[in-house]
Amino acid sequence: MSTIEQFRHETRAWLEANCPLSMRTAMAEGEVVWGASQPQFPSEDARLWFERMRDKRWFCPEWPEEYGGAGLSEEQLAVLESEMRRLKCRPPQINLGIWMLGPVLLAFGSEEQKRTLLPPMARGEVRWCQGFSEPNAGSDLASLKMAARDAGDHFVVDGSKIWTSYGDKSDWMYALVRTNPTVPKHEGISLIVLDMRSPGVKAVPIDLISGKSAFCQVFFDAVKVPKHQLIGPLDGGWNLGKYLLQHERKAMSKFGEISLPSHFHLLSLLREYLPRPQSQGEQALHARAVACSMNEHAYGLTVQRMTEEARFGDDVSGLMSIMKLVHTEQERDKFEVLLDAMGGHAFGWQSEAFSAQQQAITRAWLNSYALTISGGASEIQLNVIAKRVLGLPDAKKGVTP
Ligand SMILES: Cc1cc2nc3c(=O)[nH]c(=O)nc-3n(C[C@H](O)[C@H](O)[C@H](O)COP(=O)(O)OP(=O)(O)OC[C@H]3O[C@@H](n4cnc5c(N)ncnc54)[C@H](O)[C@@H]3O)c2cc1C
Repeated sequence: MSTIEQFRHETRAWLEANCPLSMRTAMAEGEVVWGASQPQFPSEDARLWFERMRDKRWFCPEWPEEYGGAGLSEEQLAVLESEMRRLKCRPPQINLGIWMLGPVLLAFGSEEQKRTLLPPMARGEVRWCQGFSEPNAGSDLASLKMAARDAGDHFVVDGSKIWTSYGDKSDWMYALVRTNPTVPKHEGISLIVLDMRSPGVKAVPIDLISGKSAFCQVFFDAVKVPKHQLIGPLDGGWNLGKYLLQHERKAMSKFGEISLPSHFHLLSLLREYLPRPQSQGEQALHARAVACSMNEHAYGLTVQRMTEEARFGDDVSGLMSIMKLVHTEQERDKFEVLLDAMGGHAFGWQSEAFSAQQQAITRAWLNSYALTISGGASEIQLNVIAKRVLGLPDAKKGVTP
């Protein structure tokens, strides 16, 4: 047996012995476990699964061992992921630190930052939030204004961040801040990390149409951030931010694997609301649903192909924008079809007049729009694809005929 086949054999046996049966089912709403200083577990099995995967160092299996990972090769990682998919294992925890900041620290952090920030992240002990967007800087992120003023051994941070998911529940934030207002906007930005319990930080939740939301506006009033919490070069944060967003898009392109409970399976649900499509309209709706399911399947196969290509060393980073765009738009189209089929059953998301499943679908439909915006809106992904993947010129600098 080859070494990799041996690894597959051992991984399968370990997962079968250690992943509780209830952790091999689709996650219902509210069952996500967040890595945090005080993690909440919806069940004892969720706790067990978290602790076993943590002790196996499989929260971030491909990270080097000295920073808390298991040092798996790309090939081993692909095996682990495919074995977890085969058993339908739930992710043991979700952690923006591991998904997004970790890769940035591994590539650009100092040795001290890697040794202090990565191991607690890898053990799921810190909940991170992302402080990028501001009231007047979303798609045009480089216009951000939150200032970090040099005050000797620390920065003094003033301003506000908006749409910060779970800002009120997070332990630490990674944030893009303006450290130099006198140079062109992309050149005066830095990446810092800060403790959300620092004096002067206030996270205020924001309510949305779909009810309580994860969003917060976070206010910073003369917050002291030690200089050693600057990641990468001073004023050099823009490139780090872009690198981080690539990893955010990569994580988002995988959302379908982890976030959709199986009762959102389109064709089975359609059978409930449209058992025998008869009229032309119903048949057209059915055809749309079949097209969505085929697209979903094709997307899954493309992700598998990309994983294989990455395993053989091909650079797939530029494709993350394509995957994020396609996946989030497909999800939105899927819920559109479902809502059309549900008709009046889809009118409520907070009312007892509707079943829990109907409310969950309507909320998921509302959320599917949010996902086409977070991590960079679809139009922005199209711009990135045009420039970075297709190599087209900037609209402003375009050649006039
Ligand atoms: C679910 C969710 C979670 C989020 N979590 C976080 C978080 O944790 N931390 C954080 O910092 N931010 C977060 N965000 C914010 C997100 O990054 C921004 O909403 C996003 O970048 C868009 O910015 P905006 O809302 O200011 O919209 P705007 O930038 O004002 O855009 C409005 C519309 O104009 C379009 N548009 C803008 N510029 C262009 C252009 N050049 N070409 C074509 N079209 C354009 C956009 O595509 C969009 O349709 C989250 C957003 C969502 C929906």
